[in-house]
Amino acid sequence: MATATSTAVMHSRVEEFLSKPRQMFINNQFVNSASGKTFPTYDPATGEVLAKVAEGDREDIDRAVKAARKAFEGDAWAYMSPSQRGRLIWKLADLLEARAEEFAQLESLDNGKPLSIARVADVPLAIDLFRYMAGWATKIEGNTIPLSGGSKKVQFFAYTRREPVGVVGQIIPWNFPLLMAAWKLGPALATGCTVVLKPAEQTPLTALLLAELIAEAGFPEGVVNVVPGYGETAGAALAAHPDVDKVAFTGSTEVGKLILQAAAGNLKKVSLELGGKSPNIVFADAEMRSSVAGAASAIFFNQGQTCCAGSRLYVEKGMFDQVVEGVADQAKKIKIGPGFDATTSMGPLVSLEQFNRVCGYLESGLSEGAEAVVGGKKKDGPGYFVEPTVMVKTNPNMKVVREEIFGPVVVASPFSDIDQIVAEANNSEYGLAAGVWTSDISKAHRIANRLRAGTVWINCYNVFDAALPFGGYKQSGWGREMGHEALEMYTEVKAVCVGI
Ligand code: NAP
Ligand code: MG
Repeated sequence: MATATSTAVMHSRVEEFLSKPRQMFINNQFVNSASGKTFPTYDPATGEVLAKVAEGDREDIDRAVKAARKAFEGDAWAYMSPSQRGRLIWKLADLLEARAEEFAQLESLDNGKPLSIARVADVPLAIDLFRYMAGWATKIEGNTIPLSGGSKKVQFFAYTRREPVGVVGQIIPWNFPLLMAAWKLGPALATGCTVVLKPAEQTPLTALLLAELIAEAGFPEGVVNVVPGYGETAGAALAAHPDVDKVAFTGSTEVGKLILQAAAGNLKKVSLELGGKSPNIVFADAEMRSSVAGAASAIFFNQGQTCCAGSRLYVEKGMFDQVVEGVADQAKKIKIGPGFDATTSMGPLVSLEQFNRVCGYLESGLSEGAEAVVGGKKKDGPGYFVEPTVMVKTNPNMKVVREEIFGPVVVASPFSDIDQIVAEANNSEYGLAAGVWTSDISKAHRIANRLRAGTVWINCYNVFDAALPFGGYKQSGWGREMGHEALEMYTEVKAVCVGI
């Protein structure tokens, strides 16, 4: 299918995968939806239908939850040794690694991101996450607790156990579809939970290919179920389901609030990884080349569709013009094109809806008086391309400064005072991430302590690791993904007290 030398050749298995409607995965089997309905997923570089996918709804969710409940209560999973659980997760990582190119290609086609990025970021990070979590399966420990009551004659032996929380509903977004599935599945499987996963309607394909590997790895049936479908139907049914013990969600703050309401029915546990409007602060004493490159990639990576994107750039007065020009120069060098083209460094936005949203913000910023130093326009179709954009002459009340755009648009403003910049950086309903660039390491740490954000990157940005917890303060979420912190969200603590 290669049309030009720079266009990647589609893997034969990807071609085959796309050639027929994809079914949902329940009880280790691929099945049609109860309604028989399918929905299309699109190639955002062309706007054309990429594949048809079974459309899950309430009935399918119910079937998947029943399968997950049965698996949770069944001996095969409940009494599987932690070591064996760990080995299955590790095997899943090995299978994923063996077919990494297929996953990278499918991700690029479904989401739009450059294939080169899917190859070096999405897929290897997912593999690594599974391996990291495989190691935790054997290390989920309780404590022994000395009780204060008792005497020589009346004594107690008390300990805690960390037990799996149960059946978990996981709802994930479209920006890193495979990686978000890994972030969610890894800790759930390590702790012995069972799962119903709903991928985003825009990008259901890699989760369904992963389901093939889950069956192949040898997970007992029902441990993982994947039900693609729309948020308002399948997602809402999962969040509200009375037999789901916990829901884990990544996506918009707006939908996060709906998840919370839906979860109230049976008071299921909730973890949320939501939006952001992360400040990236460059001091005049920062190493200029790396901070300019860092500020540019902080916002332009993944077409700006990153929850922790450094979307508010603050530069100390004196260096403002130089840094803004530097970031604008980087933006000019970005080659926009289909993800499958090897020369592409920025792909299309994920969908027409997202394209319209981002274009709306561009218009809003410019009409409120901001100025685009570079970019500011959409590209003519086909495909959902917008120019990487740097806006200046903004003020803190503008929508483009306050709201999450989720596109390659950064707003830049100067600052002169440390207290002022800390206050301005924290002046957001979000608190997911922040960046600080300076050669004064004491200043960097002092400011890191004052920033109300779940991650602070100093002299770097967008550094992720399976061992590093990630999540938000304020309206950016509840709980943490990755690291051992993630395990806490998938376990209940049981205190056992024995009179001896
Ligand atoms: P979204 O609606 O929050 O989607 C996230 C997930 O939630 C998807 O699987 C979605 O399903 C599902 N969903 C939607 N409505 C639901 C409901 N009522 N009940 C249960 N699940 C529901 O995000 P979006 O509309 O795709 O994007 C909108 C904005 O969200 C973006 O512009 C961006 O600002 C933000 N966002 C943030 C992140 C992040 O990582 N923090 C990721 C993506 C988007 P469907 O996709 O099938 O509707
Ligand atoms: Mg949506």
